[in-house]
Amino acid sequence: MVKIALLGSTGSIGRQVLNVARRYPEKYSVVSLACGGNAELLERQINEFKPKIACITDSSAALKIRELPSGVSLYSGENALLHAVTEEADVVFVAVSGFCGLAPTLFAIELGKTVALANKETLVAGGEIVMKRAREKGVRIIPVDSEHSAIFQCLGCRLDAEFEKLIITASGGAFRDLSKEEIAVKKAADALKHPNWNMGKKITIDCATLVNKGLEVIEACRLYNAPLEKVEAVVHPESVIHSMVEFKDGAVLAQLGTPSMEIPIQFALSFPERLETGVKRVNFYEKPLTFKKIDTDRFPCFSLALDAFKKGDNYPCAMSAANEVAVELYLEDKIGFYDIGKIIEYALSKTERLSPTVENLVYTDKTVRRAIYSADISEL
Ligand code: NDP
Ligand code: MG
Repeated sequence: MVKIALLGSTGSIGRQVLNVARRYPEKYSVVSLACGGNAELLERQINEFKPKIACITDSSAALKIRELPSGVSLYSGENALLHAVTEEADVVFVAVSGFCGLAPTLFAIELGKTVALANKETLVAGGEIVMKRAREKGVRIIPVDSEHSAIFQCLGCRLDAEFEKLIITASGGAFRDLSKEEIAVKKAADALKHPNWNMGKKITIDCATLVNKGLEVIEACRLYNAPLEKVEAVVHPESVIHSMVEFKDGAVLAQLGTPSMEIPIQFALSFPERLETGVKRVNFYEKPLTFKKIDTDRFPCFSLALDAFKKGDNYPCAMSAANEVAVELYLEDKIGFYDIGKIIEYALSKTERLSPTVENLVYTDKTVRRAIYSADISEL
């Protein structure tokens, strides 16, 4: 029986992790559940899975949870996520979104727990420390993001295998076929209509701006210890090939599947074993598989993300924090599509270079958020 600590249980990934536990109750149990503020869903999950620990960051939302089954302890407040990282777990599944994933991921590593990592912002902001500590502690980090899971599968479920190049595929997002002028006036509601994937709001916007692909290239560099030159991103609108690995002899391996996170999520828990998911099978006669180059003129955020990575130190953290705030503002219809890139550029220009220690990353994250909230966006 694999005991799972699930951080971000109310989200798109988190709910699918619980589907795996439902599908295979004899293989997986849930020892802790944690979320941000969705008390109603968390309460239902607590009653269904009866974890020992339940955590909710928003203290006022916690008050809505009135009745707990016996044996369940409830924690709330800013550090609630850390309580979910319990000694009892075998795997800590980090499916929260944003920078808040860094501290619990590092704590899980300190406890020597295997980490199934969906939360890409953690690797973007703190990838150097996370991977270094994981190596030092001999802790396994298992990628969940579909591209990184695809690469993991092509590399024989290893993070340290040799390769020539990683080729990350991108759907292109909701606006992939529109002109710059058309994209400029698109609202968040349009960006949320992703052509291939059904995901949380933040990542769906990140797909539309292609920030997501920038974050994923960085994530791949961190996970597979690769220089930027060895990672390429290519638009593949059908989202059937989830990523590829090119080897020294010119051979290329790819992992394919219909676009569903159920496979990478379940594989992170079951590997090297493969279990039935019920996912629709690939139909090779349905549509041709096509590839295009990323258009950085229409999608400047892709280059901005990589520029931050090239600058190193705390710049990727600053970029990711700025993007988180910009996406929130775009979702609230307070800024336009191309303001997201302007905000990232502004934040990077204001960032003071610091070495990427945990303290410095927390400081950078806070400072960037404060700087954007106090800036006049129309002046940027
Ligand atoms: P969602 O927005 O659907 O869910 C986010 C989860 O994180 C929710 O459970 C939310 O709780 C919780 N959360 C957010 N902030 C906090 C906080 N401060 N403290 C505690 N919990 C918090 O996101 P997704 O599931 O889409 O994505 C999760 C992560 O996985 C992201 O990093 C994303 O980039 C990555 N990812 C997602 C994919 C997808 O298909 N969705 C694919 C690949 C990667 P609540 O709802 O209660 O506020
Ligand atoms: Mg992905």
